[in-house]
Amino acid sequence: MNGVGAGSLPRWWRNRIPRYRLVGAKCKVCGRIHYPPREACPYCGSRDLEIVPLPRRGKLLSYTHVFSVPGDNRLSTPIILGLVDLGSAKVIAELTDVLPEELPNVKEVEAVVRKVEEQGGNGVIGYAIKFRPVLQATPGGQG
Ligand SMILES: [Zn+2]
Repeated sequence: MNGVGAGSLPRWWRNRIPRYRLVGAKCKVCGRIHYPPREACPYCGSRDLEIVPLPRRGKLLSYTHVFSVPGDNRLSTPIILGLVDLGSAKVIAELTDVLPEELPNVKEVEAVVRKVEEQGGNGVIGYAIKFRPVLQATPGGQG
């Protein structure tokens, strides 16, 4: 916005808070919550938004495998993207700590911070919010 410098570090710095904490941007006009946080509401166009914390646990509504990921220094592909209902907002984020064959049984997920990339040279390591399955205690338990 006011020319902080060159390279990817300023952008990384600007995105630091939304990446490390699970927060959304709530539109003060229409009340919708957006994740990741936005500067303007895509529904009503308002620029009057505030950062609000989001619940760390939610229901996994849907998921998909993504085999082509932007950026050439990803640690692994394919990745699994999930649609998570946090109650106040629905978010799309990467799922972690889960095997593909386990996905049909995953109902509840929780947010964790995970390493996503290492940028060669300057030693910057990126982190992002991902979701992992909440382990369910089976009543009467065989499992
Ligand atoms: Zn709005």
